[in-house]
Amino acid sequence: MLPFLAVNLLLSSPGGQQQTKIEASKLIADSQHSSSVAAIIQQALALADWTSKVRRDLHQCPELLYDLDETSAYVRRTLDGFNIPYKSRDASSGIVAMIGTGASPCVALRADMDALPIPEEIEGPFKSRHTGKMHACGHDAHTAMLLTAARILKERETDLFGTVKLIFQPAEEGPGGALPMIEEGCLQGVDECYGYHNWPVFEYGKLLVKAGPVMAHPTAFKIVVTGKGGHGSQPHFAIDPVLTAAHVIVALNTIVSRSINSADQAVLSVTMVHGGEVSNVIPDTVTLQGTLRDLSPAVCDKLYERVRQVVAGVCATYGATGTVEFNGMYACIENHDAQTSIVKRLGERLFGGAEGVSEDGLPIMGAEDFSFFLHKVPGCFFFLGGSEPTLNGWARLGSAGARSNCMCHNTAFDFNDNVSPLAAVFFVRLVEERLGCELYTEAELPFPLLKPDAGGGAAEDAGPIQLPAAKKARAK
Ligand SMILES: [Zn+2]
Ligand SMILES: [Zn+2]
Repeated sequence: MLPFLAVNLLLSSPGGQQQTKIEASKLIADSQHSSSVAAIIQQALALADWTSKVRRDLHQCPELLYDLDETSAYVRRTLDGFNIPYKSRDASSGIVAMIGTGASPCVALRADMDALPIPEEIEGPFKSRHTGKMHACGHDAHTAMLLTAARILKERETDLFGTVKLIFQPAEEGPGGALPMIEEGCLQGVDECYGYHNWPVFEYGKLLVKAGPVMAHPTAFKIVVTGKGGHGSQPHFAIDPVLTAAHVIVALNTIVSRSINSADQAVLSVTMVHGGEVSNVIPDTVTLQGTLRDLSPAVCDKLYERVRQVVAGVCATYGATGTVEFNGMYACIENHDAQTSIVKRLGERLFGGAEGVSEDGLPIMGAEDFSFFLHKVPGCFFFLGGSEPTLNGWARLGSAGARSNCMCHNTAFDFNDNVSPLAAVFFVRLVEERLGCELYTEAELPFPLLKPDAGGGAAEDAGPIQLPAAKKARAK
């Protein structure tokens, strides 16, 4: 039966883990091996707990950019534990592991590993140990998910017709670890590539996906408005860059609504204003910074053109001058049609039919460097919801608090650990689909795997952070 259980039992089960339930009735009904249902339930529970432990271990050691010493060591140790070979290169601090025959077809699965330079606000037994750093985007969970998928796949490696590459990537939050890894060859021999992001404001147990653009191309911009400094009481002898910059900000905010076709999507936000040091001195310069988002080169060009025009025109009106710098970053993520159809179909199969898959809110105007993978090979980037009704609002109550539904990049972000096993199983099924093999029967790899404990208090050594209350299992 499920060999991964044997490995699982060797691993410790720390405090603070979640208690989960399987939809046992479905399991029993579907099972070809009803005598082993109880064992399967135990195995799935143990797997979910292990995934949760991995996520929480990683959560405690958030690291930034390419400096992922602890995280990378943890991932490598875990891969070693399952005898999964990998390559780890200094230049990018990424890890590329491999399962299967080493021959084509080859499917790549990608997870990001880096955290953010923000302090964690929620107290708990697995809070960040690194002051001022936090896994506030759920990359700890993405890594845990991929390790879980790796573990499940490895157990049936001899049944794999082809190869699975597992890409653990640094620096997604910037400056972008995907490109260096691609340049080092991580996509060599890869036919298709898939990745996912947790989406905490979308319903748990549902998939968000869409063909075409799903995430934006971001550009950081910097504008320097130069006037002529002077005494605050004598503005007629000066050229005031503060007033000019204020008008520039207002005018910039008309670009998306007045210059971009309403059928297109774009965002312009001025997010930084720096100028002046003293209350009675008009400064020489004011610096504005912000971000532009677009989904196509044509819209990007238009935004650049209009920002330059607005800055030049408004500055001229007040006798000042302005310079503009653009720093375009990740490309737009554009999902490929065929691979998106596959993900969609699988989502419908695993998430309760058409209702379990949605395009709501896509494209998201955030950015992700998974786009670079999709510029090299076909593939799909999708989102899995993590929101559960009982998690509305979020806890700032320390040990008494419940887990949150709050958005990524918030200091109170708290990943919903119910998502990871679900994501791992999804990736395993995706690999089976693409490599044309069945590694696990429905009974052996039950789905939906997780359902929060209905009793809410049965968790053994559950720790101070409370689990969400029960959510109805989705109808198959
Ligand atoms: Zn992020
Ligand atoms: Zn992220």
